[in-house]
Amino acid sequence: MNLHEYQAKALLREAGVTVPEGRVIRAIEDVDAALDALGEGPWVMKVQVHAGGRGKAGGVRVVRSLDEAKSFADGWLGRRLVTLQTGPAGLPVETLYLEPATAIARELYLSLIIDRATSKVTFIASDAGGMDIEEVAAKTPERIHALSVHPAAGLMPFHARRLAFALGLEGAQAKAFGQMLKGLYEVFTRKDASMLEVNPLAVTEAGELLALDAKFVLDDNAGFRQSAILEMRDEAQEDPREREAVKHGLNYVTLDGDIACMVNGAGLAMATMDLIQLEGGRPANFLDVGGGATAERVAEAFKLILSDGKVRAILINIFGGIVRCDLIAEGILQAVREVDLRLPLVVRLEGTNAEQGRALLAQSGLTIIAETDLTRAAQAAVRAAQGEI
Ligand code: GDP
Ligand code: MN
Repeated sequence: MNLHEYQAKALLREAGVTVPEGRVIRAIEDVDAALDALGEGPWVMKVQVHAGGRGKAGGVRVVRSLDEAKSFADGWLGRRLVTLQTGPAGLPVETLYLEPATAIARELYLSLIIDRATSKVTFIASDAGGMDIEEVAAKTPERIHALSVHPAAGLMPFHARRLAFALGLEGAQAKAFGQMLKGLYEVFTRKDASMLEVNPLAVTEAGELLALDAKFVLDDNAGFRQSAILEMRDEAQEDPREREAVKHGLNYVTLDGDIACMVNGAGLAMATMDLIQLEGGRPANFLDVGGGATAERVAEAFKLILSDGKVRAILINIFGGIVRCDLIAEGILQAVREVDLRLPLVVRLEGTNAEQGRALLAQSGLTIIAETDLTRAAQAAVRAAQGEI
């Protein structure tokens, strides 16, 4: 789960990380009071959406007067912002954030992730922060520095020294940087983040360090013990199908292709997507209905993948281990009757009660392409999506 910049900054502020003061704006009428509260301009106004790349898309602007601020708010509130990270539909703009503009001398990059290779919380830092960080990583990877923290020892003074040195910070700035690292590490670990990013981390013209942007991603598996963060959820920013999936206990991720997949087990789902790709097709989603899938859950999953307008064929791949294939078949039939299916449907059932399951589908009178071999099933789905079946 993602937080907005203003919410992430509140977490940072609480942990002693220096961030600019700010005001949230939800309606044009809020602009006056926000400017008053923040004192003299210029100010910076920022669209709040769950995606980066806002600067390049016109979602961040320095404003110098009440009129300019109002016209920015008027131009964005109620619209959608499309950035390189949002996809073509963009994300709805319901909130803006206003801060006093900072005079920036240098833009640094600093983030925390869990490095899966070392299983450690890892700082990533660069002296070339700002809006072109992806290009820096691609073209001059030597300017990106990584440093892991041992989970038992925690953050140590040498971490701060090494990273400060890599970023060209000395003296009082290096000391302030150490405080910032401490705060970020605390937020990351205490709040169960899977990602925490400050880009840019500004060195101001006055020589201070200031987190000018903040991105926080919660590790959803820890949601049960982060109720304060869950309360900050902004559903409007989330994929409606992914939200619906969570309600039904389904693991669902929207993808770009046109072949919908319904599979039990994450590993099998990945393998199925790989096979589709190998056969020249593109999956429209990842969907794991889980090991103990019931007919109802299968029906819900089916409706979910069908609600995606770009789907042109469906591939159901179920291996009956714990789950019985005849139950899955019942779920498929229940769903197909409810939704008036017009798309080609390829089903591969294997494992416990596979024969009964296949028989149920065959007797249903529905046009279902039944396959027992997974490669053949993937091939059929790809051809069906291309309109060849
Ligand atoms: P992002 O593009 O979504 O990552 O949004 P950011 O919050 O990082 O803002 C984009 C860019 O706007 C930053 O890299 C800065 O160059 C610029 N920017 C943001 N805040 C300020 C500010 O207070 N003063 C100035 N001069 N520039 C800013
Ligand atoms: Mn940024």
